[in-house]
Amino acid sequence: MIMKNNTAISWVFLGVLLVATWGGLTGCSAVPITGRSRSVVMDEARLASVSETEYKKLMSQSKESQDASANAMVSRVAKQMVAATESLAKDYGFSQDLAFYKWRFTLIEDPKMVNAFCLPGGKIVVYTGILPIAQDDAGLAVIVGHEIAHAIAKHGNERMSQTALVNLGSIILDKTLETSTEETKSLFGGIYGLGTTLGVLLPYSRLHETEADRIGLILMKKAGYDPKAAIGFWQRMSAQSGGKTPAEFLSTHPSDATRIADIKALIDKGL
Ligand SMILES: [Zn+2]
Repeated sequence: MIMKNNTAISWVFLGVLLVATWGGLTGCSAVPITGRSRSVVMDEARLASVSETEYKKLMSQSKESQDASANAMVSRVAKQMVAATESLAKDYGFSQDLAFYKWRFTLIEDPKMVNAFCLPGGKIVVYTGILPIAQDDAGLAVIVGHEIAHAIAKHGNERMSQTALVNLGSIILDKTLETSTEETKSLFGGIYGLGTTLGVLLPYSRLHETEADRIGLILMKKAGYDPKAAIGFWQRMSAQSGGKTPAEFLSTHPSDATRIADIKALIDKGL
């Protein structure tokens, strides 16, 4: 009798385990605002912890800008855009997700780096090299909006999840992600390339870029900036000569012409 009960309990346990594992593996959820269904299997808390370590490493090798007016501009735009993000989260019902983010904006002094990026958890790094292209608050809001969008859409997590699913068998994956911070670190490094190439993000997919552009424009509008500023920003970005450090903002996916045309179309139809 005891034996039989134990077997029954074991089967129930196995069933629960399989359901839980499957749920964890598919990790299916929807991107806020766009509603696109995606699979994110990486543990966000662990990603935030790896981000923290990598961010500290990056900062130990970088120089924070001492330009008071440039820093004031970043703080001003950041404040407006974070407030807009919180307000949109209420509109679209993802405030609970947002509670997890600790927004932090850093301006790094490097005139040759035409770049900005966001780490999981909400650390946004802007390089001084992109400021001449931003030109003003609205131009900077294009950059900040785009980066906040990558963060709240969990694009980094989705990319790592895709890589993990390809690299590891599905059963091994669950076990590995549960136990190995090293594995998370290595996946993280593969996407963000911090430490080795110092803040150079591998280009996002065209899908992620287009999605970040659209969410970014919606955030800008909510924050009171004119989304049309994005057209000028990407035109200036496109016009700037090559030879500088390739980075997420110089990514060729989507091509500048396509991106600008897509942004114009979005603005025409009210985003
Ligand atoms: Zn991007």
